[in-house]
Amino acid sequence: MSTQHKLRPESLMMSYGYKPELSEGAVKSPIFMTSTFVFKSAEEGKAFFELAYGLREKDEGEEPGLIYSRINNPDLEILENRLALWEQADDCAVFESGMSAITTVLLEFLSPGDVLLHSAPVYGGTDHFIHYFLKKIGVESVCFKAGMKKDEIIDKLEATGKADRLAMIYVETPANPTNTIIDLQMCREIADHYGTTDKHVYMAVDNTYMGPLWQHPLQHGADMVLYSATKYLGGHSDLIAGACTGSAEVIKRVKTLRTFLGNMASPHTGWLLMRSLETLKIRMEQQCRSAQEVARYLSTHPKIKSVYYLGLIPESSPAWKIYQRQYSAPGAMMSFEIDGGEKEAFRFLNGLRLMKLAVSLGSTESLVEHPATMTHAGVDPEHRREFGITESLVRISVGVEHHEDIIWDLKQALELV
Ligand SMILES: *Cc1c(COP(=O)(O)O)cnc(C)c1O
Repeated sequence: MSTQHKLRPESLMMSYGYKPELSEGAVKSPIFMTSTFVFKSAEEGKAFFELAYGLREKDEGEEPGLIYSRINNPDLEILENRLALWEQADDCAVFESGMSAITTVLLEFLSPGDVLLHSAPVYGGTDHFIHYFLKKIGVESVCFKAGMKKDEIIDKLEATGKADRLAMIYVETPANPTNTIIDLQMCREIADHYGTTDKHVYMAVDNTYMGPLWQHPLQHGADMVLYSATKYLGGHSDLIAGACTGSAEVIKRVKTLRTFLGNMASPHTGWLLMRSLETLKIRMEQQCRSAQEVARYLSTHPKIKSVYYLGLIPESSPAWKIYQRQYSAPGAMMSFEIDGGEKEAFRFLNGLRLMKLAVSLGSTESLVEHPATMTHAGVDPEHRREFGITESLVRISVGVEHHEDIIWDLKQALELV
């Protein structure tokens, strides 16, 4: 066998970063349920702390030692190494929730007086943190929508009179729940427009909807990629977690703040995520294949007005070019407008027999919800209208059930409307 052969991430998810000989030969990593780690000597303890607190650089071949599970733990370290493979990133930091990953990054890279430029809509929790918490500590935010041109966004930034304080661009694409897409290369150009030799404008992308398989933001100019690992990465609706991947320099800063906020994931969550990553690719690919069948069915149904799915973007639209460049598949998230309003949407939701009426996404079971009254109930009604989150909108996360069974369920529930 050639030594040049590069193994793919899906082939490495069962073994990468784990040494069975350190754990009695166990084929799977045990769950290291321990708060602290015993040093072989006082000198070793001192050396480990010097690295952990950045008091000196690593010596050649030296590895950071295990100290205390708020700083590092084998289950988290192995998981982080595996997650970094999917993004071809230097490193990764895992968190106790997606919101922890997002807020830690925003807190680390923004200071009072800075300006944050963000796409809209963003996840409700992120929106709240930007508009309530960051505002309170003096970070101003400016938003832009899918379809806005680079010049229009720059004009909007300039209108604040503080464009020179732009410190970060935060993007969520595709947007939840309407699947509008944002051009990441354009965002990088805006960041660089305001960057100087001594100030880098950071760009963070929430890749929960399409990563780590179908969109690779680091390749389009992002500095960090954020995840709610609760969704596809976890994939079984049995855990809450988050992750951030990026360059060694970025992750070092993120992990340092994580150490002091204390919002790392637990060893048990790390272990569950490793279990999930073994099937990540086959789950996501199956979900995407089924979603294409489901979207096709919905798009021809007489009681459905429109279907928002990346696989249905018309080739003539400007979004098509972005889609072609940025995504390798249309994913497994879609939303649609039922003919009618809340009453019709609810009748449909209450009539489902296989799919579960619940928020969250990316799991093995299909999940269906009503954004206007559920995930996006907290969004200002005017913004809801602006972003197309209507009373008749329903969101589906397609799971791994047979697509004909999903379609059967949709068909029978639509008959009740
Ligand atoms: C769920 C979600 C989050 C928040 O993640 P939690 O794990 O629930 O904290 C952030 N962004 C997106 C796009 C999400 O779907």
